Amino acid sequence: MTKPIRKTCVIGAGVMGSGIAAHFANAGLEVLLLDIVPPNLTDAEKKDPAARNRFSAGGLDKALKARPAAFFHKSQARLVRVGNTEDDLARVAECDLVIEAVLEKLEVKQDLFARLEKIVQPGTVVASNTSGLRIEGMLQGRSPAFKQGFLVMHFFNPVRYMKLLEVVVGPETSKETLQRVKDLGDKLGKGIVIGKDTPNFVGNRIGTHAMMVTIHQMLADGLAPEDIDNITGAPMAHPKSASFRTADLVGLDTFVHVADNCYASLEKDEERDVFKVPPFIRTMLGQKLLGDKTKGGFYKKGADKQIQTLDPKTGEYRAKGGDEGIKNATKALSKIEDPKTRVAKLVADPGKAGAFAWKVLSRSLAYAARRVATGEIADSVVAVDDAMKWGYNWELGPFETWDALGFNETLATMKRDGIKVPEAILKMEASGASAFYKDGKVFDLAKTAYVPLEKDPRNATFDILKRGQAPVLKNDGAEAWDLGDGVLGLTFKTKANSIDPDVIGMLTLAAERAERDFRALVISNEGEHFCVGANLFLVVMAASQKEWGQIRTMVAGYQNAVQRLKYAAVPVVVAPYGMTLGGGLELCFGASSLQAASETYSGLVEVGVGLIPGGGGTLNMLWRALEAIPEGANVNTYEYVTQTFKNIALVKVATSAEEAKALRYFRRTDGVSFDRARQTTEAKARAIGLAESGYHAPTPRAFTLPGDSGIATLSMMVDTLVAGGFASEHDALIARKLATVLCGGAGGGSREVTEDEMLELEREAFVSLTGEPKSQERMQYMLMNNKPLRN
Ligand code: NAD
Repeated sequence: MTKPIRKTCVIGAGVMGSGIAAHFANAGLEVLLLDIVPPNLTDAEKKDPAARNRFSAGGLDKALKARPAAFFHKSQARLVRVGNTEDDLARVAECDLVIEAVLEKLEVKQDLFARLEKIVQPGTVVASNTSGLRIEGMLQGRSPAFKQGFLVMHFFNPVRYMKLLEVVVGPETSKETLQRVKDLGDKLGKGIVIGKDTPNFVGNRIGTHAMMVTIHQMLADGLAPEDIDNITGAPMAHPKSASFRTADLVGLDTFVHVADNCYASLEKDEERDVFKVPPFIRTMLGQKLLGDKTKGGFYKKGADKQIQTLDPKTGEYRAKGGDEGIKNATKALSKIEDPKTRVAKLVADPGKAGAFAWKVLSRSLAYAARRVATGEIADSVVAVDDAMKWGYNWELGPFETWDALGFNETLATMKRDGIKVPEAILKMEASGASAFYKDGKVFDLAKTAYVPLEKDPRNATFDILKRGQAPVLKNDGAEAWDLGDGVLGLTFKTKANSIDPDVIGMLTLAAERAERDFRALVISNEGEHFCVGANLFLVVMAASQKEWGQIRTMVAGYQNAVQRLKYAAVPVVVAPYGMTLGGGLELCFGASSLQAASETYSGLVEVGVGLIPGGGGTLNMLWRALEAIPEGANVNTYEYVTQTFKNIALVKVATSAEEAKALRYFRRTDGVSFDRARQTTEAKARAIGLAESGYHAPTPRAFTLPGDSGIATLSMMVDTLVAGGFASEHDALIARKLATVLCGGAGGGSREVTEDEMLELEREAFVSLTGEPKSQERMQYMLMNNKPLRN
């Protein structure tokens, strides 16, 4: 085992440094964040530590205010101390890792490393977050000992959200240094790609080339930015923001900076000219049309709030439009679920979209192949594919795309079109290979042979873990599989993982089966989000037919299923990620323990559709808040009830697992997976851990709730909101029903309220709300428009 990295120092508190510091703190590391003393301080300020630390404190403040948030929870900022490089540099002697994210200027970095060399202790890792400077240049004049502890750790912006961490070692970097940084990357939830010491490493080299080819081709074909974005988003298996929307998000200055760096430093690159930024983009830079940060880039919002597009020919904005043929073709393609089929159909499209896609992809794929064939930027096609998926959010990397288009067919068309393919690819063809990836192996271009695809066992998905030829249990909404080691795994099969009667039925069946034949149950889903709640359509249908009994049965069914899991004799571990809303969060309340992805967005959002939670959500959210009260403590439950009331009535969504813990949606002791890829394996490990450490089902508890006086006080609060115009009459009606449930019902107040009583109150309030016309309008509006209606 290597020595773990615990204490860190981040130098440079700009965009990247503050993001890195925040994410280190997210992982529980101590951080010293340094920046320069601001120039031009007055004589009085020069003696004032706060003024001297203004840049680093400002960086921390920016990280705290960043949207999307840089910290999982604002309290984690307490792990970050600020300082400056004149007064505090000596403190790096206490650190296990020092990473710099200062200006991208060789001399500035060289000076900093010279200063650090005199202070850092043997065994301290020193890293640079440079985007493209060579290690050799940065370390000129440094000692062999310093070089052994040095490497490049290239994070992507925003650090919390981008999975890619490119690691580049120099000739003298020690194995131990690399291993310690790999271990740290794991802890941070990053996917590590080992790059070579070449300008812009792997992700930005391939990504910038692809973007530049796209821009040049757009100009050559006389197409417009919206045409290109229609083609290069989902149809190409790239993110929806495609080319120019992404550029607006990232900032045109950042993109041009990387392109210019490529052009300047890649003197021998056979496609160097591709990196030459065209004049219309230089003009945009001059006009500060940098994208979202200057409120205008390739797109902007006009005075009439309509989106306008920059016309590259005139340099003027005009109404967003685009080629109808391209629009229609790509709209249909975007609906195809499987990215491989999508991109293959795009290239096969007989119109302009297909022709454009082929011209761009063929050049981009061949360029990537030439970079790997000689080992120039990485040793394996896997590294390039991973870099593009983790750093650019592509669904398929270049070589996976090539496979999707058919290795041989694509190669033949490249040859026909005169695209230069490297010798190694021709040898690969001659060897009879028909794909880069095949049967768990990957083609090694240097060896002209397939080699085993190295798979991290921790990344095993539900599909990989499941054993046997058939599920243990199956219906139309869900399946339960044997995951090995005595663990039964349940997974949803409904559209968008919504909860319907099949899923509800399966929860109970799986609990019974797990108790009988297994030692634990894991609930783990695939797809973009864990679960966005119950199937609203079924509720709307039943309400429109006034089938109140049916709704009551449905609600009771889900309540009972969640309670069944909660009191199961074997541990139940639920693995939420992404959106975990409404019924999704209610399911989490039924778990003995969670293994949540750090990026989990959870809340009870039923009020938005005119309802209150109906799967035990009111009971269980409140009980979780109350369970921390020590027995005998003279605590008025009203405060807890009020907080729970606000969380539900105001639809408070936690934007990370950590925030969900702070709100008590999750428990402090629940597990958090920083890398979503590992979540199912980690959930299974948690379930086994619980099973092996003497798991016993909890005992139901009862609490004295505020009763009438609480209902009256909460109702007054609601009335004030209505009077102030902050809530509608219908909001107030829902809120009063919610208050009644959470206060334990009218007439309560002096006795303990049981779980069953709470569930009955919840059920009746839910059913009565489904009969309210304005709630029905809200539900219908959500189904039609996918956003809430305020009425
Ligand atoms: P930035 O301009 O936002 O921040 C740089 C910070 O460094 C500033 O706060 C500045 O005051 C400080 N600084 C300058 N000289 C210093 C010195 N000698 N000692 C201490 N602090 C000093 O820049 P950024 O975008 O955060 O980039 C920082 C580094 O990260 C660069 O090397 C850049 O190439 C790299 N990088 C940037 C991105 C990105 O998307 N912005 C992504 C990956 C890597």
